[in-house]
Amino acid sequence: MTHRVVLIPGDGIGPEVATATRLVLDATGVDVAWEERPAGAAALESHGALLPETTLEAIRECRTAIKGPITTPVGEGYRSVNVALRQGLDLFAAVRPARSLPGVRTRHHDVDLVVVRENTEDLYRGIEFARGTPEAMALRGELHDLGGFEIPEDAGITLKPISVSGARRIVRFAFEYVRANRRRKVTVGHKANVMRYSDGIFLETARMDAAHYPDVVWEDVHIDTLSARLVRSPQDFDVLLLPNLYGDILSDLCAGLVGGLGLIPGANIGWEYAVFEPVHGSAPDIAGKGIANPIAMILSGSMMLRHLGELRAADAVDRAVDEVLGRGRVRTADLGGRASTLEMGEELANEVASADVA
Ligand code: NAD
Repeated sequence: MTHRVVLIPGDGIGPEVATATRLVLDATGVDVAWEERPAGAAALESHGALLPETTLEAIRECRTAIKGPITTPVGEGYRSVNVALRQGLDLFAAVRPARSLPGVRTRHHDVDLVVVRENTEDLYRGIEFARGTPEAMALRGELHDLGGFEIPEDAGITLKPISVSGARRIVRFAFEYVRANRRRKVTVGHKANVMRYSDGIFLETARMDAAHYPDVVWEDVHIDTLSARLVRSPQDFDVLLLPNLYGDILSDLCAGLVGGLGLIPGANIGWEYAVFEPVHGSAPDIAGKGIANPIAMILSGSMMLRHLGELRAADAVDRAVDEVLGRGRVRTADLGGRASTLEMGEELANEVASADVA
């Protein structure tokens, strides 16, 4: 069966890690019809938009995409392409596994965590009012009238909506994920004691829906306590279920626990579409040098293969990463080696090709 997949190379190190990823995924022998589409700075030049409608259309048609990181230009009027993709395709769940890899020196061992992050609500919903604008002034007035709240005149305002419907679908997603992937526990991170009506809804929804999953152990932990416990003993945790902002922060923390951003894959999943991407950004400091670690995007590719039902191929990619890192001969600079992005990709592709995938 041929799988049609949209490939968005992205900006900065994106095209470099995307080339290596394609090498490795093609080496599995899975029949992928790649449809390359632009987004980000390259698209702004060629199409006059950071996220051209034709790119979105292609994803709607193929249903599956894999993308490199995208630079959000700093300045008025630019909206993050990643946020636009998540909202435009209703990709409400972000899944970011972080596990200890062989041969990667880290403070902790035997870490095997998965961050499940709500992707569409919370402080990242994009409801913002700039300081001093008539809208911000009007909102200040409303808030004063409604609850006597005094907001300083020189404040910018960002709103944090969390709904029962938004929380319910991510809670169910996380509990189903635990069942489907034979994991053991869900830890809900929140600050419901302070943000009673937003985080409170997240926690209350988790509590109600957890009752439908008596076979899954769950707990709730305040986000500050959770951060401290994660850096002390990450082995105590399994699946972390988090609202949008905390999920963003803790997934980078989890990346740090297992060796850095160059190793952490990600998936953005909705009812209809799925977009896979590394957690890292476009790394302008090393872009164009050919030294970026492609493993984060390659492992995002293995998540994609699993999503497409190509389980043996996905396992072969995961095993190849373990083998190559374990041998330690070919490593990129972030792991203390001298290999280029392409050399790493070729080594992994050879390892995959030598495995009996079919
Ligand atoms: P970054 O992840 O690009 O870089 C942080 C540090 O990690 C840098 O020192 C970088 O060299 C290193 N690093 C990242 N990926 C690496 C890899 N694969 N191999 C080796 N080292 C790697 O974060 P940033 O500098 O905060 O962001 C740069 C740009 O990327 C910004 O424009 C930001 O908006 C964007 N960004 C995009 C995404 C995305 O598209 N999903 C995610 C995060 C940031």
